Amino acid sequence: MTQQPDFGVPTQSQTLVQGLIRSEGASYSNWGLHRSTTPAVFIEPISYADVQAIVRDSARFPSPVNPVGSMLSVASTFVNDGGTMVCLRKLDEVIGIERDATGRELVRVQAGCRLKKLNMWLQARGLEVPFQAEIGEASVGSVAAGDTKESSIDGPGYFSAHVAAVTYIDETGALRTLSDLADGAAFYEFKCSFGLLGIIVECLVETRPATLCRSDVSVEGFASPTELAAGLLAKRSQCDALLAIVFLHQLVSFFDRRYKAGPGIFTPPESQPECEAFRLAKRLGIQHGFDGVEVPQPKGLVYSRADFVNEYWRPSASERRLDFQYYEHDISQIERVVTEAYAFTKSFQDKTGYVPGGFATYFVQRLAQEKKPYGLYSSGPGVSFSFDPICSNPAEPLWQQFSREYNDLAIRGLGANASPIQTQWLKAGDVKIPRKLAKPRFTTPYYAQFLE
Ligand SMILES: Cc1cc2nc3c(=O)[nH]c(=O)nc-3n(C[C@H](O)[C@H](O)[C@H](O)COP(=O)(O)OP(=O)(O)OC[C@H]3O[C@@H](n4cnc5c(N)ncnc54)[C@H](O)[C@@H]3O)c2cc1C
Repeated sequence: MTQQPDFGVPTQSQTLVQGLIRSEGASYSNWGLHRSTTPAVFIEPISYADVQAIVRDSARFPSPVNPVGSMLSVASTFVNDGGTMVCLRKLDEVIGIERDATGRELVRVQAGCRLKKLNMWLQARGLEVPFQAEIGEASVGSVAAGDTKESSIDGPGYFSAHVAAVTYIDETGALRTLSDLADGAAFYEFKCSFGLLGIIVECLVETRPATLCRSDVSVEGFASPTELAAGLLAKRSQCDALLAIVFLHQLVSFFDRRYKAGPGIFTPPESQPECEAFRLAKRLGIQHGFDGVEVPQPKGLVYSRADFVNEYWRPSASERRLDFQYYEHDISQIERVVTEAYAFTKSFQDKTGYVPGGFATYFVQRLAQEKKPYGLYSSGPGVSFSFDPICSNPAEPLWQQFSREYNDLAIRGLGANASPIQTQWLKAGDVKIPRKLAKPRFTTPYYAQFLE
């Protein structure tokens, strides 16, 4: 670990923090508007020295100090009543490209930068990050130390796998850097810490020359949950990466089979207007939780994946808007998971009349355990899939009841790994975070329940 030059402890005569500070008891909500928090202080730092000063001054900035980016997370990860909420969104520069000692080309980017901005910046230079989720609003700092999923081509499918170094403010207010080349285990552990070891202000992220992708999109029905599970495996074996949205109670699935389509930076003109029609329909589908949106089924569509990293507007409480739960399973469990989830969903429908809008299914390649020692994807090399119920109204009581009861089946019955950022209604024991990954200055009551 290298300690970097300090920006200096501010004296009483200096301005402690230049960024915006609000301490009038305002509340802040997540994107879905179903969770909110009332911190004692809300701050938007505009320099690393601001973040250092905040961490050092526990009288003015009460513990816990918790970083947020775009506040999209569906779970209570950002809830920090009475504490200090540090929003990194104004530290969002893409600083530049650099090459490291091993020849890797890396982008240096500040933690508050949104993924869409980063993707566009790289695309303009003929580069890409191998992880390209649909969600363009998520901030680099959140996804570097938190959980993500995507059906990636030539990549594991979670963002933190591509983070090669983090610069952060530790619990003493020191600016520190950890990297894969210099710090090994300590670095990989930090990337599993959800901001509980420090506030990330800057990351180095692996890039590669930009590539194109080809998609075949279809919607197909199955006679039984067993056939549906077999269909998911068959579709995955036919392509380089598969994304499926399963309408489980109907035994119908939307498939996006993705194939490598060689080098290329921009969506080719001959793919238009189909590509833009597909992107906009998919974007609206995600915004509205796939409720009442027809998505086209193009075949052989060639495009830049960076173009499919989307912007989403902040919805109002009366709008349909995506909400979801996240569960990671090993691929060997797919038939059992689909079959038992089907039985559960049908029984819940019989009891209440409610079913979730669908189950989002991503496939992720796990790396060696030392590179992902804790949390999601930490069981060593192999393939994981997610089977994530989605809905279009996070405030719907029956959806919340479904999610709570489904946690019992998925986590306690089927042994799924859950995420404190992407799985809601977790109880103590559902997620286990080693105590060594959390410093008291940064640990909120929400996270304290998972420490062991
Ligand atoms: C419409 C929609 C679509 C989505 N699609 C996807 C998808 O395709 N794939 C996917 O993986 N996820 C998806 N998500 C989930 C989303 O990507 C994650 O919740 C992501 O973490 C949100 O980023 P954020 O900046 O809003 O994080 P926030 O909600 O602001 O913060 C979440 C947590 O991240 C940590 N954190 C934030 N900033 C820092 C920092 N600087 N240093 C250290 N820790 C920090 C803290 O623990 C914080 O509580 C989607 C969410 C929505 C609402």
